[in-house]
Amino acid sequence: MSEIRKHYFLEDYCIIAAGRGKRPSDYSSFPEVQNATSCVFCAGKEDMTPPAMAVYKHGKILQDSKNELIRDWQIRCIPNLYPALSPEGAGIPYQSGYGFHEVIIETPQHEKRLTNFTDDEMTLLMTAYRDRVLHYWKQPQIQYVSLFKNWGKQAGASLEHTHSQLIALPLIPPLIKRESDLIHEKSKCPYCDIVHMESSNERSIYENKHFIAFAPYCSKVPFEIWFLPKEHVSHLGAMSEDMLHSLGVAMSYVLSRLETVLGSPSYNYMFFQLLNDDSYHLNIRLQPVTSKMAGFEKNTDIFINTMPPEKAAEYMNEGMSEQETH
Ligand SMILES: [Zn+2]
Ligand SMILES: [Zn+2]
Repeated sequence: MSEIRKHYFLEDYCIIAAGRGKRPSDYSSFPEVQNATSCVFCAGKEDMTPPAMAVYKHGKILQDSKNELIRDWQIRCIPNLYPALSPEGAGIPYQSGYGFHEVIIETPQHEKRLTNFTDDEMTLLMTAYRDRVLHYWKQPQIQYVSLFKNWGKQAGASLEHTHSQLIALPLIPPLIKRESDLIHEKSKCPYCDIVHMESSNERSIYENKHFIAFAPYCSKVPFEIWFLPKEHVSHLGAMSEDMLHSLGVAMSYVLSRLETVLGSPSYNYMFFQLLNDDSYHLNIRLQPVTSKMAGFEKNTDIFINTMPPEKAAEYMNEGMSEQETH
């Protein structure tokens, strides 16, 4: 039996095709072979990339200079060597492909992955996300900063060393624009309602002081998971240190569970946020990559998902007691 589901408040649909009765093992993948020798993101290869714009090192935020590249770093933010957009030609933003494209190297260690990060390391990463997003949002003519992570070849990562990316655009993507327009028409924030609804039901996965994680009702792909702050905040810059910590811990928990349930899936996560619109409610969407977008999806933008979110949450919660998920 299949079901057509509508997004919480947008004109957006998915087809939950549960009848196919798949199990998590049908979606698992295995770690790719790691090859550190030619990796330019590793410690000691700092001279093989453009100089870093921001380097997080033991409580300080530094910058590479021409004559000195900072070593012994924790997180290193560099301009993308093959940028989708670049800062030249700010006067004619569209024609000149104006924008910024940064890579956030999350650790100097090649073999390390987010699921090996300590809570403190995750918090530092969230702090770097916040700082870099704010930095680019303040640049002239920048209207949106896209922050995302591609993990694994299937998810579009061209280098396996764990990293995130940020692309600053001179426009607001239509997807976000449509959403924010709709939110403006409402008397109350729909995401605050979603927090209320998804906090303790069959799709809930995790909750801590400031964040919840759950499988959304209209999940586009198997094991899609959303993170929502319980308080209404529009962007990372509006989050306290304590909230950044909560977010890091929540992401760390969910990614580890995902690895236990799915093996080692490729995934993307994306930050949805708006800096100059207080009515928007920041949200983060994690989508494991278990199949390719095909003709039907490209024709209709409606995804067929063979794993009902209720079932995905059940797998994610299997063997976990109440105490472990607070
Ligand atoms: Zn590396
Ligand atoms: Zn809200």
